[in-house]
Amino acid sequence: MKILVVNSGSSSIKYRLYDMAEESLLAKGLVERIGIEGSLINHYPSGKDFLKKEIDIPDHRKGIELVIEALLDSRYGVIKSISEISAVGHRVVHGGEKYSGSVLLNEDVMNTLNEFIELAPLHNPPNILGIKVCQDLLPNIPQVGVFDTAFHQSIPEQAFLYGIPYGFYEKYRIRRYGFHGTSHKYVAQKAAEMLGKDLKELKIITCHLGNGSSITAVKEGKSIDTSLGFGTISGVIMGTRCGDIDPAIIPYLMEKENLSFKEINNILYKKSGFMGLSEGISSDMRDLEEEAIKGNKRAKRTLDVLYYGLKKYIGAYTAAMNGLDVLVFTAGIGENSPKLRRAVCEDLNFFGIRIDDKINYDQNGKKAIISTEDSKVTVLVIPTDEEFMIAHDTAEICNNFRPKAGH
Ligand code: AMP
Repeated sequence: MKILVVNSGSSSIKYRLYDMAEESLLAKGLVERIGIEGSLINHYPSGKDFLKKEIDIPDHRKGIELVIEALLDSRYGVIKSISEISAVGHRVVHGGEKYSGSVLLNEDVMNTLNEFIELAPLHNPPNILGIKVCQDLLPNIPQVGVFDTAFHQSIPEQAFLYGIPYGFYEKYRIRRYGFHGTSHKYVAQKAAEMLGKDLKELKIITCHLGNGSSITAVKEGKSIDTSLGFGTISGVIMGTRCGDIDPAIIPYLMEKENLSFKEINNILYKKSGFMGLSEGISSDMRDLEEEAIKGNKRAKRTLDVLYYGLKKYIGAYTAAMNGLDVLVFTAGIGENSPKLRRAVCEDLNFFGIRIDDKINYDQNGKKAIISTEDSKVTVLVIPTDEEFMIAHDTAEICNNFRPKAGH
């Protein structure tokens, strides 16, 4: 069964084609600068030369057409006919309160997706556009939606409600949704697999630390709390996002600096986090670590705020689950920064967390157990693979999907 995974953004389309029987990647690629000068497609077929094509790509339809062409190409292609693709799995950022799992994208679901545009105005519209173009160009192939929010729909009311008048939840569905759900679910499952344990018996904290970051408490295989919430800004500090702040700061700053709603939003989402705290050094962890080694105080204080924030979440979620068996680090920073992992795990022996620093530093972005033998909590590094998880969910849904007679 071959599954195409599509992640359609406002000016880009990421794609991967998997052979699920072998669990192997056949090709991956990226269409970039859609509707902008200099548009192109980079196509990487496994085991073959890669293709870079600079070509006018005015819209997403042309982008998907190029993806299909590349997959079928006599030199760079990996399939002979489009009918070899059994299904398409789409990343959809927001599934609101309606979707706690992946779904077949029929007409009813498509109508519902429009309702969530308000909740993710930057992400859901290009996701929906990508789905519509694929439905149009590949009409006989089932399409599945996999939501970033779905895994967190198991979070109980006590953790998803905010302390604002309840009417706002009823009227606008203002609550904690959480994001990166596909990644948290993937690494939690992998952790159980790696340890040869039943996921349902484990208390896990998954730290997805990348440009955007979130920490999730996974109890008995279910997300019970997560650090991102209604929007993608709460929790620990991120590349340019502020993480948890006292809401009182917002009206105060707006008044002091005479800021509009758009301006304050821009500061909190685009000028804060690593970038803001370091006074412009960078939004990229590698730059901050390099500067901190040189003794740069601005870089050092930024890292200290991040490490401290992570420790607090680990403590809070350990309390929320009444224990902790496994701590997982994933995504760009979690997978690649031994320095951060050491700083976060240091002085957590009260919780039974001890890491082997040699293994931690030798791990080099690959999956590994980095805790010591006598650590009560197993600490893991697991490279995330959201696309594979999307392909996996899509295959599972399509295996259960039987078109009605006449279709
Ligand atoms: P992601 O959003 O998952 O692609 O992660 C991006 C973040 O990972 C950026 O802040 C990068 O600086 C960080 N990152 C990538 N490689 C490394 C590395 N070797 N050491 C530290 N941070 C890294």
